[in-house]
Amino acid sequence: MTVLVTGGAGYIGSHMVLDLMKTGEEIVVLDDFSTGFPGLVPAGVRVVEGDIGNRKLLERLIPDYRIDAIAHFAAKIVVPESVEKPLFYYDNNTSRARTLIEAAVNGGVKHFIFSSTAAVYGNAETMPVTEETPPNPVSPYGRSKLMVEWMLEDARVAYGVEPMILRYFNVAGADPLCRSGQATPRATHLIKTAVEAAVGKRAGMSIFGTDYPTADGTCVRDYIHVSDLARAHVLALDYLRKGGKGQVLNCAYGHGSSVSEVIETVRKVSGVNFNVETAPRRAGDPAEIVATGEKIRSVLGWEPQYDDLETIVTHALAWERKLMDQSRQADARAALATV
Ligand code: UDP
Repeated sequence: MTVLVTGGAGYIGSHMVLDLMKTGEEIVVLDDFSTGFPGLVPAGVRVVEGDIGNRKLLERLIPDYRIDAIAHFAAKIVVPESVEKPLFYYDNNTSRARTLIEAAVNGGVKHFIFSSTAAVYGNAETMPVTEETPPNPVSPYGRSKLMVEWMLEDARVAYGVEPMILRYFNVAGADPLCRSGQATPRATHLIKTAVEAAVGKRAGMSIFGTDYPTADGTCVRDYIHVSDLARAHVLALDYLRKGGKGQVLNCAYGHGSSVSEVIETVRKVSGVNFNVETAPRRAGDPAEIVATGEKIRSVLGWEPQYDDLETIVTHALAWERKLMDQSRQADARAALATV
């Protein structure tokens, strides 16, 4: 039995690979390296460079590696970019996922774990959201993911593929041992942006909107540590293999933090009073997205280990400092090479 991890060289996928390795699981990573990094895949893990939309490749790969489960992370994830390039998102996140699901069906793969998103809820009328809250995505990104959820639900009925649909809330932090973390250049996510400001990678940052109907006027999100999220995937795999029925599960702690609280935490943990400006609201940002986070605990027995904003920020900051050291060393090597 082998797990195919698409996007395993990316931020969240690489953390699942690290967790799977603890149990000696056979793993194959499929990544096109468009946003992933070979260096995030732990040594010894098999990597196939390729596209999830490459039917011929998948038809070979699934039987060759005796794949029995797919964890599908490979996707484009930037909401504002999806507004600018919707057809790119529907191609990448939706059409290519269809090809992957079809290959799973044809190859007899019965377990399919899908990275979905809180963006499927859009501007939910009641907070916190539960899995019963009607989806109402407001961005092409959210819609591109919701369509895959629907395809998987239909594929379950028609072909017996059992899907676990994990709707991620705001993923942040890094591996506590600093083996992986978010490495994307020009990242837009709040905690990544703030730790970049703290290490001096950017001159400062902006708060997008201070006039929201929240306690301090800034947006509230349910931030979840990437290693806790990875654990949820490993538990989901075990659950499906034991015959558990596929579900939709929100991956969230059940409480939120505001943009201002996050920035203050990054300033406190880093000891750096980096520059913060206020800016107008960013298009498409709901004021608050928080989930109850109860169903995933009861279905999978998931017990988060890092449900603490300071811990998330501490790990994100350690990773960012590591990236800074690596880039300084690379610069120094390049400078020496020219001497
Ligand atoms: N945000 C911000 N400044 C930044 C990046 C993000 O004020 O440099 C805000 C953003 O407007 C949103 C919240 O932080 O209200 C979380 O944004 P992020 O992009 O991290 O995740 P999203 O909830 O959009 O998926």
